[in-house]
Amino acid sequence: MGKGTKNGWKFNFSTKEALLTAITMIVFKQITALQAALSEAREQGKTIGFVPTMGALHQGHLSLLQLSGQQNQLTVCSIFVNPTQFNDPKDFEKYPVTVGADIFLLEQAGVNVLFLPSVSEIYPNGTQSQNSYDLGYLENLLDGAYRPGHFQGVCQVVHRLLTIVQPQTFYLGQKDYQQCLVLKRMVQLENLPSRIAIGPTLREKDGLAMSSRNTRLSPEAREKATAIFKSLSYIRENIKNKAISDLQTEAIAFLLRNGFDKVDYIAIADAETLLPATEATQDKKLVVLAAAFIEGVRLIDNMTL
Ligand code: AMP
Repeated sequence: MGKGTKNGWKFNFSTKEALLTAITMIVFKQITALQAALSEAREQGKTIGFVPTMGALHQGHLSLLQLSGQQNQLTVCSIFVNPTQFNDPKDFEKYPVTVGADIFLLEQAGVNVLFLPSVSEIYPNGTQSQNSYDLGYLENLLDGAYRPGHFQGVCQVVHRLLTIVQPQTFYLGQKDYQQCLVLKRMVQLENLPSRIAIGPTLREKDGLAMSSRNTRLSPEAREKATAIFKSLSYIRENIKNKAISDLQTEAIAFLLRNGFDKVDYIAIADAETLLPATEATQDKKLVVLAAAFIEGVRLIDNMTL
């Protein structure tokens, strides 16, 4: 780049200068251009942090970008609604897309680089016949059981994105607890050099975990959706006094009484392995995970106990 005009836009800075001084955010749609800019930054000795997202950004995403900004000289955010991780085509079609607002938020947050690829850029040979990863029992547990193929799709896209961006660190939210464990395994299996950092779940004032899917809820359902947080909090408060199976049954009944149409699971599990917990003991960290539908929108949340 240099001085000139492109598509009616005047520019007078080089990619390198823009990245060095972070005058503005640069949006890349193509891998080759992104990689050229990132290798320039690497030559300057900059560390690269990466936050993969599916867009419809909220404060939860921004908290991860902020963490990356604190720990790296350059932060890359990607927005890509990955078709291979949607087991339900309707869910894919309805996934909120708000690119204009996202770009505005990212610029406000001081993000340096946005990678906004098309499906063919990520999957040049089509979305079929992708890699398959040996995720072991994690693949069929909890979300794996209810969303067949989902975690394979997540691994495919994150593996591809990590190969393209090659960050020192990439940032994930605890909100997607099982996804964090799955991606740790994928990184190990593929021997990737990137480190994983996990940020806490950001919540709305009433406790509902922030999620792009929340925008699909009517005002009534949005209000009722807080029952998921209430049920997790109830379990956290009572884990020492009540039997695990009773707590799970009570929480499911509470959700169904309070506006949820269907509960995939409320599961109390070992926080490290996600295997079902049978009792609360001092020596084991536990986590409670929930997945339930309200107005046909599937919400997930979790809380360490
Ligand atoms: P998504 O766009 O839903 O694929 O999410 C992109 C990243 O943001 C994932 O690592 C999520 O776990 C993380 N994330 C989503 N919601 C939240 C939240 N409420 N708090 C913190 N991180 C989140």
